[in-house]
Amino acid sequence: MIQVEEALERVMQGVEPLPPRSMPLAQAHGRQLAAPVHSPRAIPPLDNSAMDGFALRSADTRRVPARLSVVAFTPAGSPPAAAIEAGQAVRIMTGAPVPPGADAVVRIEDTQPRDQQVDILVSAQSGQCIRSAGEDIALGQRVLTAGCTLQAAQLGVLASMGQAQVQVVRRPRVAILSTGDEIVRPGEPLSAGQIYGSNGYTLQALVREAGAVALDRGVAPDDLDSTRAALRACQPCDILLTTGGVSVGDHDWVRSALQEEGADLQAWKVAVKPGKPVAFGRLGGCRIFALAGNPVSCMVGFYQWVRPVIRAMLRDPRPYLPVIDALATERIAKRPGRAWLERAQLERSADGSWLATRTGTQSSGALSSMAHAHGLLLLRGDSTGVEPGSRVRVMVLDWSFLAGQSPDYGW
Ligand code: AMP
Ligand code: MG
Repeated sequence: MIQVEEALERVMQGVEPLPPRSMPLAQAHGRQLAAPVHSPRAIPPLDNSAMDGFALRSADTRRVPARLSVVAFTPAGSPPAAAIEAGQAVRIMTGAPVPPGADAVVRIEDTQPRDQQVDILVSAQSGQCIRSAGEDIALGQRVLTAGCTLQAAQLGVLASMGQAQVQVVRRPRVAILSTGDEIVRPGEPLSAGQIYGSNGYTLQALVREAGAVALDRGVAPDDLDSTRAALRACQPCDILLTTGGVSVGDHDWVRSALQEEGADLQAWKVAVKPGKPVAFGRLGGCRIFALAGNPVSCMVGFYQWVRPVIRAMLRDPRPYLPVIDALATERIAKRPGRAWLERAQLERSADGSWLATRTGTQSSGALSSMAHAHGLLLLRGDSTGVEPGSRVRVMVLDWSFLAGQSPDYGW
């Protein structure tokens, strides 16, 4: 048996980011940047007004009211007015460039406009109500890092720099092949002894959530030739996931089918529960993971082995899910040996610490334990179990449980 860390290291070995491709900004939502972005311009490009009012020389407003002559009007979108001199002001709108010579803007509410003149009613501080050129982003500044995910704000920043195209990392294409004579697709009738297949569905969702493209390749029956044909139909892809058929039963064809198709396959027993058997390898240009058939083992195996590979291919500098400290709310009896990944819910205690509670039966076939879980409670191999109040680590799978039923600003 090998330890989880070692298995993970072997799995991650040689994983390279996929090549970049250029795409229109509007299509890049959720994608990863292929390279850092430096701003080709200062933002804002010019000193501009933060208010509707009058641009002036603050020195002219030491004594108020101060009467100034209005020499120009600059709405947003106009070039800056000519330089102003002592005793002059420019009527200016929010976002419009400040004329040379002016060092402050006084908002309209603090003025009394007259025909060609204006009375300034309050003294101005130098710099007030002016947004200076480059105060958001300086020319040449690195604004976004390689691998960062393009969400609303990042897309907005790229747009503000005038970028119509963006270089993103190509998404891994992940083929998913379920196996088993007993597996039936939902929507079809079920005979005695058959079950509806869930792994094809959980894996497609997990692949998409990880940022890759899911290619459902259906269910292969339990025979060598069909499995081989189904494997061939999965190509081309970057990652090939199979589920089921990898234990040592008479009907477990996946490993031999992969080998006969020319896969370079390594099978390990990893000291972890669930997900002890891991078969991992390569077939041509694609990475293969032969995941367990049991629905929980299949999902947990994906989180453990496949998700980090997908994230690394997407250039994510943090390819691993977050892990937090929590307190167990219950006794968990365990023998030393394999590490355990138990499905757990999280809640906040009154003093702010996290509390972790398992989601009922932890059988590797009981998928409801995943459906109700926020994360995986991690018990090390040498752990002899925990008592209520013991510190445990929890890998958080989904933070959405923290969303509020009420605004809860704490004001
Ligand atoms: P196997 O490794 O093929 O022996 O499968 C182990 C267990 O997982 C068996 O109970 C299978 O019926 C079940 N199983 C295999 N594939 C799937 C699937 N796609 N969806 C749900 N259960 C499955
Ligand atoms: Mg099977």
